[in-house]
Amino acid sequence: MFVDTHTHFYDEWLRPDAEAAVQRALDAGVGMMIQADVDSHERPAMWEIGDRFPGVIFQMLGFYPGSVTADNWQQELDLVHALAKGAASAEQATKGAAKAEQATGAEQAAVARPRFVAIGEIGLDYHEGEQFKEEQKEVLRSQLELAAALNLPVNIHLRDAWEDLFTILSDCRHLHLRGNLHCFTASYEIYERANRYGDFSVGIGGVVTFKNASLAKTLERIPLEKILLETDAPYLAPVPFRGRRNESAYLPYVAAKVAEVKGLTISQIEDITTRNALQLFNLTQSPETNKKTGIIQNQGTNKNPETIQNQETNKIPEIT
Ligand SMILES: [Zn+2]
Repeated sequence: MFVDTHTHFYDEWLRPDAEAAVQRALDAGVGMMIQADVDSHERPAMWEIGDRFPGVIFQMLGFYPGSVTADNWQQELDLVHALAKGAASAEQATKGAAKAEQATGAEQAAVARPRFVAIGEIGLDYHEGEQFKEEQKEVLRSQLELAAALNLPVNIHLRDAWEDLFTILSDCRHLHLRGNLHCFTASYEIYERANRYGDFSVGIGGVVTFKNASLAKTLERIPLEKILLETDAPYLAPVPFRGRRNESAYLPYVAAKVAEVKGLTISQIEDITTRNALQLFNLTQSPETNKKTGIIQNQGTNKNPETIQNQETNKIPEIT
């Protein structure tokens, strides 16, 4: 079983087809998928899809830096805190920020609390401009503190803002943060630096399959126990689907490339990255997902990553 540690079935590009896409993922051996949260507009759809697949789809809770504006940030941040504290039930949360404040009660806390396995995706994104930089920083700091208070991992989204991230992580060193640098494409030095301030894994996705990706070189040096697989579907589809809509079902193509870089089999990468994901997100496999489905391997197509992989890496049979 593979775990897709970062996906968005609720994204409008994937939503109309979400149920079938989940089934395709299961058929491809991707038994657990974690949806990254972005904001209150998308959250109801995220939870709605997650509710249809208990034990298979899990959710994060977080306010995404790309959604931060001067007008919304305080309200969105307050809502995340309210949800995290169980002050709003799942049902009320789906009705939006205004209603969430009215929700009270321990029974609602019981409903709301198991609904997320990490605080994410949170971070900084200056790619579209630095207009809301200060707001983004405040939102990030607050959510890092929240994660520490709840003893949850963080899922970090970062674009064009490493120095500011490191300043914040340095200030938050006392929080002993743990988590994942989602869609990691940076250098080994960046990975190492992040790990001075906390315990951070890297989320490896479709980019690693792109030609000329320097990520493969970096990945050679990153320890196996710090590697997680993700799709970020519907974005960043791996080769041979590059440029098309991505799905969790394509995760084995990412695993195949990671296996090639690490000189291991896909099956070994599957075992290692799944163990890493279960541990970081504190997940337990259900009996239905606790198997290697491997349907991609059985389809007999020549795009079969296991076949490609076996030709190249069968020479290393054991994990050392
Ligand atoms: Zn994402």
